[in-house]
Amino acid sequence: MYFVSPSKVDDLPDSLPDQAYCLIISAPDDLKDLKVALASIAKRNPAWLAVDCQDPVSATLAYRLVAELLESAGSRIPLVLYSRPGKRKDLARAVDAHASQELEENASLYRTSIHSGGLLLEGIGDGILVESSDASSAASMALDLLQTTRIRLYRTEYISCPSCGRTLFDLQETTARIKSKTGHLKGVKIAVMGCIVNGPGEMADADFGYVGSAPGKINLYRGKEVVRKNIPSADADQELIDLIREHGMWQDP
Ligand code: SF4
Repeated sequence: MYFVSPSKVDDLPDSLPDQAYCLIISAPDDLKDLKVALASIAKRNPAWLAVDCQDPVSATLAYRLVAELLESAGSRIPLVLYSRPGKRKDLARAVDAHASQELEENASLYRTSIHSGGLLLEGIGDGILVESSDASSAASMALDLLQTTRIRLYRTEYISCPSCGRTLFDLQETTARIKSKTGHLKGVKIAVMGCIVNGPGEMADADFGYVGSAPGKINLYRGKEVVRKNIPSADADQELIDLIREHGMWQDP
């Protein structure tokens, strides 16, 4: 990957062995040269394009601008959301001047999630590239980003209410128990809600809902429709599994 300031793109040799480019945005003035730089890069038929900007707010703005310019030029260059560990504005350093390496890495990954997640929700980004010394955390963060932005569901999605005075069962324990039985169902969305007063309306687009209807009783939903009423909670997990099976979405673990 070639790192280059927008104003220096024209100085690069015409043919380069690696056809991925990363535009370095280190000052607001760099944005002024973006349009010309993108036109020049487009002529090189790049594999993909990224932006390197250490300030997350500026990076978001730069990515938006690049995406807009690519779209208005009718370009199909894949735009990769790139992030590398930062030093100057690291969140961990703001919290503790003596932050450990681990904290710095985590802060960097959190920053990446916030920045890249927001862009993905706006429909910007064809890929994610995270530089980190902790490859497994970076990979799992990238997968979590795809899951939470619903670009790719690679595991079961759960929606739970925050719980309140109306909650009719131990929400944390119940959610953990249901997760342990259904966590292998790739792409299935299950809502676990504490009461029928507000729960069904808050289940978003869950495929199945497990909702407290009375003390010790559960209603089950298929989408927004209640399909089993007042099941004893001792039977509700199995009834939920049976319901998922009936709709062809169950797989044996
Ligand atoms: S769904 Fe019911 S139990 Fe859960 S937070 Fe809302 S009102 Fe409370």
